[in-house]
Amino acid sequence: MAAYQTKQRRILQSFLADHPDESLSAADIAAALSAQSISISAVYRNLTALEQEGRIRRVAKSGSREVLYQFVDTEDCREHLHLLCKGCGATYHMNKEDADNLIRMLAVHEQFAVDRNDTVLYGTCEACQIKERIRTNHGRDKEQKSTE
Ligand SMILES: [Zn+2]
Ligand SMILES: [Zn+2]
Repeated sequence: MAAYQTKQRRILQSFLADHPDESLSAADIAAALSAQSISISAVYRNLTALEQEGRIRRVAKSGSREVLYQFVDTEDCREHLHLLCKGCGATYHMNKEDADNLIRMLAVHEQFAVDRNDTVLYGTCEACQIKERIRTNHGRDKEQKSTE
């Protein structure tokens, strides 16, 4: 690898390590690193390599086809199961004891060995659930009024 490529990769990795668990697009990353003269193609190339090494993973956000990446190569991340909100893209580390129980239960009842590092549970975070509830309640109020 040429020296400048190694340097680009190092800059990218240290940026990602500063933002673990954040859902970032290649464009977000390139914009954040624009002052350090890394091209978008270099960002893509390195993201692909890091993904293959299992240091970042791709995540999906509902209603968007944009590919987002999360850096999960920290000790904290390796030990936890991840919960990912499809509404806002926020990630949470599941309580370790609960995760252990869940994994043990699947092993016993389903004879299924969960790969903790590769598993993401998709759902809706508390804040997004509240937002969703407010939104649907407003809808319901209007419906009730119009049928009264
Ligand atoms: Zn994590
Ligand atoms: Zn959310």
